[in-house]
Amino acid sequence: MSSPTTKPFAILVTGGAGYIGSHAVLALLDAGWPVVVLDTLATGFRWAVPDAAAFVQGDVADMEIVGATVARHKIGAILHFAGSLLVGESVGDPLKYYRNNTAASRSLIEAAVAAGVRHFVFSSTAATYGMPERVPVAEDAPTRPINPYGMSKLMTEHILADVAAAHPLNYAALRYFNVAGADPQGRSGQSVKGATHLIHIAVEAATGKRGHVGIYGDDYATPDGTGVRDYIHVSDLADAHVDALEWLIANPRESLTANVGYGRGYSVREVLDVADRVTNRVIERRLEPRRAGDPAILVADNTKILATLPWRPKRDDLAGIVADALAWERALQERGLSR
Ligand code: UDP
Repeated sequence: MSSPTTKPFAILVTGGAGYIGSHAVLALLDAGWPVVVLDTLATGFRWAVPDAAAFVQGDVADMEIVGATVARHKIGAILHFAGSLLVGESVGDPLKYYRNNTAASRSLIEAAVAAGVRHFVFSSTAATYGMPERVPVAEDAPTRPINPYGMSKLMTEHILADVAAAHPLNYAALRYFNVAGADPQGRSGQSVKGATHLIHIAVEAATGKRGHVGIYGDDYATPDGTGVRDYIHVSDLADAHVDALEWLIANPRESLTANVGYGRGYSVREVLDVADRVTNRVIERRLEPRRAGDPAILVADNTKILATLPWRPKRDDLAGIVADALAWERALQERGLSR
């Protein structure tokens, strides 16, 4: 760990009070980076931002706030997490996704370029691939999102590519697969209201917060008919951002689009079996209709990130991911911080 005084500038983390953003803040601080969080607190939590990070309440689409924050805190790079992230919701309210993800990112990038920010790490998603023809899916596969969430993120990737060609800014677009778990030291976890992600739902069921878990379809073309995903521990994902940032600084003329996943898929039923074992409960399962916008299988080919960054998975263990998610859920309930 290096001391903050050895770093050339501070990092602005948008959405740093949210789930993945707050873990990235921890990883940056652990690596010695000075951090400023910009968050509206619409879905994030002030308590999720450690005291060691500065905090600005505001919107990434507010170019004045972004410009003033960059100047005041000597920001040299932005890690951009703020946005909306529910596939199902995006199908019913696409304009929310094109506003919060695409349009807001465009404003943020414009403010970043105007303020002289040189490096940008973007929270992208495996949903940019849509229904991949081949799994594991590599970065050069066709990007044909099947829901507005994936499209809203893909459009931002295109904006970044064009901006990086025209201005002195390089970027990393990290295409996340399924993020789950919580900080193993118990400093943060999934706290956002209304989260619908499978492992989160499973631990809520295990702690009695909900009665059952719905399985959204068992007639997919997968070994047991349920959806297959590549689940990655949130702290491994956070570490990938620090490595991507340092790579961008070391390679100022290059940009990177990379999958972040473990390269191994689990079905909904396999996840629930692991959750039963870890929680020592039999979580009730009910078969429900397919959810709109869900592809059958999404598994990362992670060759590129392994070849480009020093990043290596450290917590590639589904039982450990569920255990960390469960510990966080229990801690939230004990502290009365429950949603
Ligand atoms: N899923 C499910 N029940 C739930 C939540 C999710 O069966 O309560 C399934 C979903 O259809 C998909 C997988 O679990 O196949 C992962 O969904 P999640 O919402 O966790 O992440 P996504 O892949 O949509 O980003």
